[in-house]
Amino acid sequence: MRATTEEDATARAAVVARGCSSPIRTATGVWVRCGSRIKSKCESCAELYRNDWAAIARSGVFDGPVTEFRFYLLTLTAPSFGRVHRVPRDGGQRVGACSCGVEHSATDAGLRGVPIDGDMYDYAGQVAWNRDAGLLWDRTRRRMRDRWDSLEYFIVREWQDRGVLHVHAIIRVARFEAPTPGVLRDAALSATAVSQVDAGVLVEWGEQARCDAFRADGDGAKTIWYLSKALNYVLKDVATASVDAPIDVWRHQVALGDAARRMRCARDCQPQDCMNLVHKRYGSRSQVVSASRRTRNRTGWSFTGLTRTVQRRLRREWWESRMRDEAGDDAPALSPPPLEDLAARSRRELIARGWSAP
Ligand SMILES: [Zn+2]
Ligand SMILES: [Zn+2]
Ligand SMILES: [Zn+2]
Repeated sequence: MRATTEEDATARAAVVARGCSSPIRTATGVWVRCGSRIKSKCESCAELYRNDWAAIARSGVFDGPVTEFRFYLLTLTAPSFGRVHRVPRDGGQRVGACSCGVEHSATDAGLRGVPIDGDMYDYAGQVAWNRDAGLLWDRTRRRMRDRWDSLEYFIVREWQDRGVLHVHAIIRVARFEAPTPGVLRDAALSATAVSQVDAGVLVEWGEQARCDAFRADGDGAKTIWYLSKALNYVLKDVATASVDAPIDVWRHQVALGDAARRMRCARDCQPQDCMNLVHKRYGSRSQVVSASRRTRNRTGWSFTGLTRTVQRRLRREWWESRMRDEAGDDAPALSPPPLEDLAARSRRELIARGWSAP
């Protein structure tokens, strides 16, 4: 027997949001995914988020005339807000003597990223920097584009152990104007911003910066893999990551949390009454991954115009065509499409459209 229209819609919606642990029903009665990027909140949506962004990252490296471009991996960090313990990772590289005078081993993980002198540490400065980091990136990208007009980027903001953001960006510049990695790094590092919240405060990058060139047909896959690893970290919610933290790390996180609570998130913010989530995220705003957008004069990062909106639409269309095909009969439960297939399909489809913006 055919289901009624309403049951049809509900069944379709249930399938679209399948796997999501807390789907949301919209005003029009359609079920949609919760869309969380935080793994502890919704594993399915977080996985989708990571895969979608990884596909966008790849499409700006592999889906175009790669020989006409040079590619770079640029890492920018925050300045120092006080000395912290340097502790190596298990099986990782030696980091040498720590400023506290000891050479730590991986067993000291409970001190990793923890200030050597908590009383002297500039917690307020650090959360304010996290808050203004987006503005600083905006100035940085402008400064780079002033010199290299063809520049496009894909960026992931990742947490360092000390609770401050740092930036990994893959950058593409047309070969005819492509700088050396050192020149690109210095141009990025020279960018500054003036805080829009704390009037007159200059926001700058830290000295630790790195830029390496890579080839799409050489170590391109490795670079994307490296970036995907960074994407894994952004699936963790910084504010909830502290449950099992060692005591010193926990104390550090509490101090950062307090500073973020007291900070103003906007000029007219009254911190004690403000509900903005940046007060719970050490000052950071929610956007952790982004890519340069397509405009009339630019391709944007993805050669094929792939965005999360396009990906969502393709997914919905895929489901709907499946539902149409199988409607009415006692179809077995649908298994979701493999994500790689979807990404590949969306690339093919967009290429077929002659690279025009959707
Ligand atoms: Zn979900
Ligand atoms: Zn130390
Ligand atoms: Zn606020």
